[in-house]
Amino acid sequence: MIANDLDQVTTHAPPVEPLPVMRSRLLATVPGVVHGITRRVSGMGLADGNLGYSAPRDTADAWAMRRRWSAAIGVDSERLASAGQIHGADAVQVRADQAGRGARPGSGRVGLADALHTDEPGVALLSLHADCLPLLLVDPALPAVAAVHAGWRGTVADVAGAAVRAMAAAYGSSPEALFAFLGPAIGPCCYKVGADVAGAWRARAGDAASGALAPSVERDHWMLDLAGANSLLLARAGLMANNVEKSSVCTRCAGGAWFSHRGQGATTGRFGAIIALTG
Ligand SMILES: [Zn+2]
Repeated sequence: MIANDLDQVTTHAPPVEPLPVMRSRLLATVPGVVHGITRRVSGMGLADGNLGYSAPRDTADAWAMRRRWSAAIGVDSERLASAGQIHGADAVQVRADQAGRGARPGSGRVGLADALHTDEPGVALLSLHADCLPLLLVDPALPAVAAVHAGWRGTVADVAGAAVRAMAAAYGSSPEALFAFLGPAIGPCCYKVGADVAGAWRARAGDAASGALAPSVERDHWMLDLAGANSLLLARAGLMANNVEKSSVCTRCAGGAWFSHRGQGATTGRFGAIIALTG
């Protein structure tokens, strides 16, 4: 596991306005791949740089923010592709003619799914987050990329493993060759869960469950480590530890710079994880 505890603010890609895009040092080494994770920026637009369209958020503002963040990351906002996120484990391939679905308000979506993958240049995969884990996958050999959204439901459903297997099936990707970046998510310091969630995770992880689940000080509650749990699932899917980079950011603890459902409530904004092949 590569610890990612340094500040990852990078603001290259002039002449675009500087925005505090988070990038993975590991994924940034792959030629032909661009990626970035947006943040909460106080005073940016109407809702601190929110990218989500769901009510009560202002869709015109969110589209304007998508354009600004996309430019900073280096993708075409008109070719964003996103799905309706349903906390499941389906992985959907996005083809070039689907680029733009889920970009502008009212542009439709690439189905209902929590994992999107593509091997076609210029398709900018987008997932939206407010505590749930963003997971970006890259097959540097092909190349091919994936964007995954994993809250507790997606984690116990093994959406991470499903994405790896989908890339293997679609492109012949070898799991041991894949690179992964686990971005900011609610951390084990803040993610208190009940017996139902703890039981579901134990059923998924078996003997290894305690590696991502610790007792809470509150009776019959536990602290779940989403990034740790998904790291375990990636290892089981065949990824090598040295090819997995993990952010140390807890979105609730660092709520000034990240949208957090637990910290700010259901109507808070969404930050985005974006990845694309440049061709
Ligand atoms: Zn925390």
